[in-house]
Amino acid sequence: AEQTYDVVVIGAGGAGFSAAIEAKKAGASVVLLEKMPTVGGNTLISGGEMNAPDNWVERALGITDDTADLFYEDTMKGGDNLGSPEMVRILADNALASAEWLRDEIKVEFLPDHLFQFGGHSRKRALIPVGHTGAELITKLKAKTDADQITIKTNMKADTLLTNDQGKVTGVTATSGSGDKITFHANKGVVIASGGFGSNVEMRKKYNPDMDEKYMSTDTPGSTGDGIVMAESLGAKLTNMENIQTYPICNPETGVISLVADSRFDGAILINQEGKRFVEELERRDVISKAILAQTGGYTYQLWNQGIADIGKTIEAHQDEYDQLVKQGLLYKADTLEEAAEFFKIDVNALKDTVKKVNEYAKTGKDLDFKHRAGLKSLEQGPYYIQKAVPSVHHTMGGLVIDEKTHVLNEKGEIIPGLYAAGEVTGVIHGANRLGGNAIADIFTFGRIAGQQVVAE
Ligand code: ADP
Repeated sequence: AEQTYDVVVIGAGGAGFSAAIEAKKAGASVVLLEKMPTVGGNTLISGGEMNAPDNWVERALGITDDTADLFYEDTMKGGDNLGSPEMVRILADNALASAEWLRDEIKVEFLPDHLFQFGGHSRKRALIPVGHTGAELITKLKAKTDADQITIKTNMKADTLLTNDQGKVTGVTATSGSGDKITFHANKGVVIASGGFGSNVEMRKKYNPDMDEKYMSTDTPGSTGDGIVMAESLGAKLTNMENIQTYPICNPETGVISLVADSRFDGAILINQEGKRFVEELERRDVISKAILAQTGGYTYQLWNQGIADIGKTIEAHQDEYDQLVKQGLLYKADTLEEAAEFFKIDVNALKDTVKKVNEYAKTGKDLDFKHRAGLKSLEQGPYYIQKAVPSVHHTMGGLVIDEKTHVLNEKGEIIPGLYAAGEVTGVIHGANRLGGNAIADIFTFGRIAGQQVVAE
């Protein structure tokens, strides 16, 4: 079967949805192809937090000294300067507009009075969607595509990019859930928004042998790098492919990211089996992950108390995850430190010593051991929460090289006509390490540009 649209978008995560909505707004007919039975990708199962410098919540909280320049510097530095300066500049200058677009046009609701300061950021600048997950984003984006009458085809896996004699991309072939082969012709062009390859162990190992079976993944099964492979066969240049991020705090049995453990951003500490802290809790994900793997058993415990729990209310926000962790024996609520230590067979006196020091540092505002950048919080009062966790593959920084208009470039740095890409499938923003809250800013900023650009040209 054959179908024709102006624009074909591959992948219905945040990047694909925003590209489709912008292309439609610019007057194009659009089809959004999604290989899974449901839309959303990793965007849906993420925490959904989005960095935007100098945003309205910062101002409401009295943070008036954040700028695009600071965000730019944090992002470049966070990626060991392996991101493209021009592209990170575009992200820094447009992230706030992307957040306002989500708020005003897509009707996404963000918490009015709470922000996260993820590792590597010099300011609290991550907006939090209500519900603390990407579900708020995807639900509202889906509602917008419904209102705009954009065609979405789920269970539709894009397989191959089609080109004409001039090498312009003119469509894709796809396979439906029932095995039908369908050709989608694109009058204007194709936007690849198929996400990363965190769920593809073979591909991980191809680019970074250390990222093997010993790691589970936080990602959806759809994250298999299809868009990278498809574009590569047209000569697309890849970059930063070896840079694969693990998220430090995940379920040791399933690999699923822990959002309950976002209490870390409100002051929870990390300890090892010996009951000692071993890393600054707001360090970069790669640094914390490595530190955890170097501890006894390759796992950590996260410890916090009710006072910290009450700040971000991550338990209430993720009650299902909390109940599941308790059931699995991976999270324990204890009235006293003795009880907490006993549950996981941690040395009680060592744990008490650690907590005593944390309480001192909380008072003086100076963490003499690990220089906690936000300042430690007192753990004097119970009840306590203690949770076991391991690192798990979370984000693939590498991918396609795009220019500032999201054109996909070939090995020679030339534009592949008719081909655009945005989101985790691209490799130019995050360098060696993506900072928390930067993926959501990235996918909506460049997803929108891709949707506008494919129609404009
Ligand atoms: P991003 O954050 O870049 O938007 P996501 O992981 O949120 O990335 O979304 C990517 C989406 O693309 C996922 O829903 C995934 O299932 C989908 N996808 C991946 N490969 C294909 C493919 N070959 N055809 C159609 N959809 C795909």
